[in-house]
Amino acid sequence: MNKNELIMLLRDADVRKKIIEVVRLGAKIPASNFTGQPSLKADLLFLLADEDIRKELLNILRSPEKISAPTTSAPKVSVQTTTQPKISVPNVQPPKPAAQPQKSVMANGADMDIKSLREKIRNRITQRAAAPPPTVEVKQEEITDTNFTYIAEKVCPICEEKTRIVQCKARLVADTRDVDFCMHYKDFNPYLYTIWVCEKCGYAAEDNRFLDRYADRVRKSLREFLSQNNFRTPFVEIRDVETALTFYETALYFNEEFEPSAGRQAGLYQKMAWVCRIAGDTVKEKEYLLKCAELYEISIDKERYPIGKVSDNFAMYTIGANYFLLKDFEKAAKYLNMIIGNSNLRSTAPKLYEKARDIWQDIRSMRK
Ligand SMILES: [Zn+2]
Repeated sequence: MNKNELIMLLRDADVRKKIIEVVRLGAKIPASNFTGQPSLKADLLFLLADEDIRKELLNILRSPEKISAPTTSAPKVSVQTTTQPKISVPNVQPPKPAAQPQKSVMANGADMDIKSLREKIRNRITQRAAAPPPTVEVKQEEITDTNFTYIAEKVCPICEEKTRIVQCKARLVADTRDVDFCMHYKDFNPYLYTIWVCEKCGYAAEDNRFLDRYADRVRKSLREFLSQNNFRTPFVEIRDVETALTFYETALYFNEEFEPSAGRQAGLYQKMAWVCRIAGDTVKEKEYLLKCAELYEISIDKERYPIGKVSDNFAMYTIGANYFLLKDFEKAAKYLNMIIGNSNLRSTAPKLYEKARDIWQDIRSMRK
């Protein structure tokens, strides 16, 4: 269609009527039922009955000032830019935030890095909660005793139903132990199984936290939250790194929302670092070691110890050991000095004391 053809058409009574109809009736009218012969006029009338075209025309009439002056080059006119076709939004309920989550003790102390990592985890978790549970094919013969794990049955403290839990066998003997107490076993990564997950409601927590009772109010809101959001995952006996990290993230999420504790989160990050170390992913390992150290630094300042089985001295040692592993020797020495400087620890926690002294001496000899 050229300019003259359009001008001719705009003078046509039917076309003018149609344009007036657009102005009077707006975007929505029944779909065009024009059945005339194919022609420019027929095309135009047909297009003027289209909701998107009508919207665009109304936009032009309502805000003429937005039309830019013509340029010598071909103006970029695109009906699509202002009248995007409706994107069909999947019918997904965004997960509701937990009912009145407690104030986070880290709210002011955490640095931006921790906040952004938390945000990343929160996004992943809420996306996961909105999606249907993944189907994982589990062969029957896999659900047996393995060389390293066995299946136990526990009662979930949140939904109070029975759930299967994968536990590591107690007899396992470690080959080596790192300065931060990460244990290495031949052909087995025990930290893949640290998080217990309820197969009925999806509640996830560290093994030494899972069975502990929450205050009634917290348990109620957690239960309500889990019933409204889909955290259920099919039970699998053998976990890979990705599955394990997802469970850690879920546990971090529940901690953050329902019982925020920098100390407990630090412990989770430490084991996530170990999962990655054993799997050979040093980039992620370092990221998690740093989170762990930073959260323990916040925690020993603000939280009461012991937290679970972790003493304040262990937390302090871990900060020192993590910074040592991250080659931030200045920070490492600062925290290890606090252990070595406490002469009581020589008798009350001799192993921790000795290990702190060993690392400290390593740092000193490296600095020479
Ligand atoms: Zn449950």
